[in-house]
Amino acid sequence: MDKQAKIYVAGHRGLVGSAIVRRLLAEGHDNLLLVTSRELDLRNQAAVTDFFKREKPEYVFLAAAKVGGIEANNSFPAEFIHDNLMIQSNIIHNAYLSGTRRLLFLGSTCIYPRLAPQPLKEEYLLTGPLEPTNEPYAIAKIAGITMCRSYNRQFGTAFLAAMPTNLYGPNDNFDLEKSHVLPALIRKFHEAKDRNAEKVIVWGTGEPKREFLHVDDLADATLFLMNLPDDAYLSLLASHFSPALINIGAGEEVSIRELALLVKNVAGFAGELIFDRTKPDGTPRKLCDVTRIHDLGWRHRIGLEEGLRETYRWYVENMKTGA
Ligand code: GDP
Repeated sequence: MDKQAKIYVAGHRGLVGSAIVRRLLAEGHDNLLLVTSRELDLRNQAAVTDFFKREKPEYVFLAAAKVGGIEANNSFPAEFIHDNLMIQSNIIHNAYLSGTRRLLFLGSTCIYPRLAPQPLKEEYLLTGPLEPTNEPYAIAKIAGITMCRSYNRQFGTAFLAAMPTNLYGPNDNFDLEKSHVLPALIRKFHEAKDRNAEKVIVWGTGEPKREFLHVDDLADATLFLMNLPDDAYLSLLASHFSPALINIGAGEEVSIRELALLVKNVAGFAGELIFDRTKPDGTPRKLCDVTRIHDLGWRHRIGLEEGLRETYRWYVENMKTGA
């Protein structure tokens, strides 16, 4: 990507989009297209068509999505499937119509079957039933992956889908009902310490395992992919019948119990952990196989404990009044 290339980051205020923007600016890209959801409702087909006709971005980072943790996915399934299908269809189709050179579609590893072998290889897509708690979101994302591949096949576009593992970092959602586990635990332990509470409630059994990647590493990976030379980039899209898909992860997992103990330690909370088994565990494991991206020459840099300490500091400095 030339430094002057017109780059559209859809979802630039979210966890992922804001990290991509930080990284693009740091690299000297100064022709970024950034519009808020108030200015442009990405679910609105006519509005998105007008926007692309007018702006014709050369590169698109598709980080706009309706996202949330296990409880939010369970409570708002219609919004999770509808909003994501609309946003991604509008953007992918109009990126094709307006001649976008490369598009990176971001999803998550919940697209893989619930009981797929671990670590999750890209080719496990569509080989078994999904985890029910986030099936509507996952099906929307799978539709997006298939859309990228189909447009590449029929129209010769260069649209790639990247599936990051569970992400965390600055600008995350710290709402206790809607967020993912890591920001929720940061907030719970911080508030418990402030109140001198005796215990913190952790949902589920603590047994499921999750992999966590700092969002700055993810942003680094997305620029790495968008900047790949043509032969390497196109090789990721090469087969017409396998998905144009690449995992982005750390390749290491921890149990929710281990994560809770880490956050407890980082926050300096001295009390007890209570596991609320009435809350769902979700999928037992979802560890990415990162061979594909490692073979291209990319690796993550930020370890979990270091990233947690930094995110905890960010939370304390920026969210003093709560999310
Ligand atoms: P998932 O990765 O899609 O299952 O989404 P989450 O990040 O929301 O949840 C991951 C795991 O953490 C699940 O087993 C949750 O039950 C567990 N968990 C423990 N405490 C919490 C919490 O306070 N909030 C959330 N969202 N999950 C929690």
